[in-house]
Amino acid sequence: MTTSAMLTRRIALVTGANRGIGRAIAETFVRHGATVFVNARDSATAAATASELNVMGPGRAETLAFDVRDTDAVKAAFLAINKGHKQLDIVVNNAGILRDALIGMSSNDMTKDTVDTNLIGVINCCQYAARLMSRQKSGSIINMSSIIGRVGNEGQSVYAASKAAVIGLTLSLAKELGPANIRVNAIAPGFIDTDMIRAVPAEKAERIRANIKMGRLGSAQDVANTALFLASDLSTYVTGQVIGVDGGMLV
Ligand code: NDP
Repeated sequence: MTTSAMLTRRIALVTGANRGIGRAIAETFVRHGATVFVNARDSATAAATASELNVMGPGRAETLAFDVRDTDAVKAAFLAINKGHKQLDIVVNNAGILRDALIGMSSNDMTKDTVDTNLIGVINCCQYAARLMSRQKSGSIINMSSIIGRVGNEGQSVYAASKAAVIGLTLSLAKELGPANIRVNAIAPGFIDTDMIRAVPAEKAERIRANIKMGRLGSAQDVANTALFLASDLSTYVTGQVIGVDGGMLV
């Protein structure tokens, strides 16, 4: 992993940064010089992650514990960033949940939790990010969608709906915020080796793997590298895109 600093003096927020893809993104941003607000639901967890990242410089990590479903907590978190830094360059809306169920078996609670986390949580953060970034006339918002939001999957209709909605949100915000020089893009990961997919039954996982043209699962770092591109000046003219990180699952 290179330590060249593509994000020097940038302030970033990564939601769900305590494990999986979010953790890899936060670590990559710190390695590239950013000050990263590490979000987790639990403040002790956020602090533990931040202290691990703080030895990986040249950037550094700060903690920001909140639940993305909690609109008041999200507002307070963005106010805290503004108070401390008067600057916010990058927001990665990564936090998400996956609850598998056939449509007839989905409970209202499961549906609400999925939509509240995967969609309302992203809307909450985009709203406050847009306000801060509009003042400084720059910024990059990166929303975590999914290949399932593009092609659907049996047993994942609610998750698919939430992730498809994230794409609609991203495209609309790219139009709305482009004039303020705020770029809004989505990443649509395929099958990435994190806790989220470790619950998939072995037989189903094998079937999915057989459909990956590159013949391997993705790593959290594969997704983090794409987030780095979208966060950095390498992508200053890229907005309104949905970038698949899926090893060719859709080819
Ligand atoms: P993990 O389950 O490994 O991590 C999910 C993260 O989101 C955790 O840090 C979790 O925190 C956090 N989170 C969940 N709910 C909330 C909440 N309400 N508020 C704040 N944080 C929350 O998942 P991945 O790393 O695999 O997934 C990251 C993103 O990528 C998700 O949006 C997912 O849908 C998407 N994705 C993943 C794919 C994959 O194959 N892994 C494929 C396509 C998309 P906690 O530890 O407290 O639970």
